[in-house]
Amino acid sequence: MAGSPLRILVVGAGIAGLAVARALRLAGFRPDVIEKLPTGEPHDSGLYLPGNAARALRGLGLDLPVRPLGQVIHRQRFLDSTGSPLCEVDLTGLWAGVGECRALPRGDLHRVLLTGAGGAVRHGVEVRTLEVAAGTVTVTFHDDAVAEYDLVIGADGPRSAVRALAALGGPARPAGQIVYRGMVRGGPPLAEWTALLGQRAGLVVMPVGGGRLYWYADEAGVRPPADPTARLREVFGGYGGPAPRVLDALTDVHVGVTCEVELGRWSRGRVVLVGDAAHATTPTLAQGAAMALEDAVVLAESLAATPSVEAALIAYESRRRPRTKWVRDRTRDRDRTRDVPPALRDPLLRGRGGRIFQEHYRLLVDPL
Ligand SMILES: Cc1cc2nc3c(=O)[nH]c(=O)nc-3n(C[C@H](O)[C@H](O)[C@H](O)COP(=O)(O)OP(=O)(O)OC[C@H]3O[C@@H](n4cnc5c(N)ncnc54)[C@H](O)[C@@H]3O)c2cc1C
Repeated sequence: MAGSPLRILVVGAGIAGLAVARALRLAGFRPDVIEKLPTGEPHDSGLYLPGNAARALRGLGLDLPVRPLGQVIHRQRFLDSTGSPLCEVDLTGLWAGVGECRALPRGDLHRVLLTGAGGAVRHGVEVRTLEVAAGTVTVTFHDDAVAEYDLVIGADGPRSAVRALAALGGPARPAGQIVYRGMVRGGPPLAEWTALLGQRAGLVVMPVGGGRLYWYADEAGVRPPADPTARLREVFGGYGGPAPRVLDALTDVHVGVTCEVELGRWSRGRVVLVGDAAHATTPTLAQGAAMALEDAVVLAESLAATPSVEAALIAYESRRRPRTKWVRDRTRDRDRTRDVPPALRDPLLRGRGGRIFQEHYRLLVDPL
């Protein structure tokens, strides 16, 4: 099917949408990409990309532009809330032969993907209705414009409108975590990914180059606080290690609640979902971007290799399900360890934590 004039609409220009647009262009397709937000970059935040994300970026021909960005991460260090070491994961060994692990500003990855996708995103555009018929999808946009496509790809995130409009699933399920994130300058000198594990709360900090640190924190809960900075200081004020200097350096704090998406199917007719729209999890394993990039590679490969769109969508889903299920299950496992009181959990992690955490990535080291 490669090079065919298939009319494809990608809804959403986040990591999944831009990656899928890039992969489709490499396979000879020329998709339209729409994004509901006005032009601009995502808010100033960071991202940790594990080795399988680097491999997918290679598949998208984008490893070279990403290589100078951010900082390579060699080791994950897990500390208790006082800052005492619990365990470590040697990332260089774990992902040997797959790809480097990297922490970088989100905006940097966004720019690389946008260029790779050909730059042609129509911003401020939303889908109002989808009419799925045999072999086509009729799309009505927010301004009443109507267009017919051979394939619509919902890359519109965990609260996907495409998912609802195509009757593929309802709202995302709240996962019971409040998440905070931001970047700091002048924080503690850190060379590696470092997590402080507390009682139903955690703080992760990593260098992203240029003297900046990306930090990410979570606590159990369902409603963001009115004053996130004050709440962070309240929850993590008693933590040791790098926490005090991160809290001192806080500037912009972004807060949200996490959710999960688990669906019986990812496509209906010529509508298919990718990225968080299909399989969002909490960010505990930091696999959301990697899964979105892998989805893009596999969907484009399936469309290029399979003689019918419907068969390609089935091939895509059956290749992707085992890995995304693995991520969801391991994420839940790891989230459950947050609920174990530190007095019980920490001795176990001191003894076997490195092996337990490393095991969470086992299937993902395998080729796509
Ligand atoms: C606090 C936090 C930290 C995280 N840290 C990491 C990490 O370190 N590493 C990692 O791999 N993952 C991380 N993740 C997960 C990762 O951010 C997501 O998995 C990833 O961004 C999913 O990309 P996506 O493109 O599928 O969805 P999104 O990033 O949500 O993008 C969807 C896009 O679609 C647009 N859109 C939405 N609705 C419509 C519509 N109706 N019409 C048109 N456009 C629409 C949105 O504006 C957005 O641009 C983290 C998540 C959180 C919450």
